[in-house]
Amino acid sequence: MSFYEEVEIEDMTYLPATQEYTYPCPCGDVFAISLEELWDGEDVGLCASCTLRIKVVFEEGDLPELEELEEEEEEGEGAKEAGEGAREAGEGAAEAGEGAAEAGEGAAEAVAKLAV
Ligand SMILES: [Zn+2]
Repeated sequence: MSFYEEVEIEDMTYLPATQEYTYPCPCGDVFAISLEELWDGEDVGLCASCTLRIKVVFEEGDLPELEELEEEEEEGEGAKEAGEGAREAGEGAAEAGEGAAEAGEGAAEAVAKLAV
């Protein structure tokens, strides 16, 4: 894979509205890569109008925090996480139930000892 250029992320333009980094392409359009892709370890900026691409040089420490954009996809992930939370709560309840069962056994043993 060959790149038109290696570009330091400081030399790119950040667009907070779309959370994208852009860099001028010689064809007149811009190379673009989203902040989310950068956080995912992607480092290839593509131009929408031609086949050129750039390699973005960055450290994760250079990146701004990824903010949740309101997209259906991410809402779906939120719902999934809520579901996992509910499942974990269910597991906690099951463990509490086991604890209660053990306490019950202890009480039965105590009664048995008293009966002796
Ligand atoms: Zn281009």
